[in-house]
Amino acid sequence: MLREAYCPSCGRQPVVKYPNNKPVADFFCVGCSEEYELKSKNGLVGNKIVDGAYRTMLEKILLETAPNFLFLNYDPQNLKVNNFFVIPKHFFTTEVVEKRKPLSPTARRAGWVGCNILLKNIPASGKIHLIRDGVIQPQEDVTSTWRKTLFLRGQSIEKKGWFIDIMNCIEKLQLKTFTLSDVYQFEKELALKHPLNKHIRDKIRQQLQMLRDRNYLEFTGKGTYSCLRE
Ligand SMILES: [Zn+2]
Repeated sequence: MLREAYCPSCGRQPVVKYPNNKPVADFFCVGCSEEYELKSKNGLVGNKIVDGAYRTMLEKILLETAPNFLFLNYDPQNLKVNNFFVIPKHFFTTEVVEKRKPLSPTARRAGWVGCNILLKNIPASGKIHLIRDGVIQPQEDVTSTWRKTLFLRGQSIEKKGWFIDIMNCIEKLQLKTFTLSDVYQFEKELALKHPLNKHIRDKIRQQLQMLRDRNYLEFTGKGTYSCLRE
């Protein structure tokens, strides 16, 4: 199945497997050099993906060296792929990584601390489905959604965190169009997350403008915004 998978970034090339001794990632694209790590799970997708060492993942996030994640979820009964999605690496922030309990003293790797990737902290635009509920999604949608959030790359952890926080707030609204005051509902929640910021409303307004300037949102006039997301 993966032999036929195209690169979700450029859509031009298939992804190629790295030799087994290459620890960086599992797959790469010869066209655009994006790297992918593959995770798979049977049964339901759930809210978490089990990942490797906690410290290593945090380091990768801070240094922006984490690969993109390809996540394959299949039905073990008939070996059918239910969901296949990619999390672009620019969606990895410290909030997405959950520390697991250290392995027990009797374990072979006693004291080792792993981590989980928390899917619920990643907005929908950061979980780009190539296959959703068994249905293959148009390739054009995949690559255009990928491009839409590329502006997150190279941003500081703090700036990226704010963008993703606001994307998550907008998503929680579940509205086609929304106003500034709709997003102000999250003022308290955001203040708890960013205790040093004393001007949350100003920040919300600024972030919406920035998301609009980056074509993530559209300003539809009369103070309403709409999502350009598929
Ligand atoms: Zn590519």
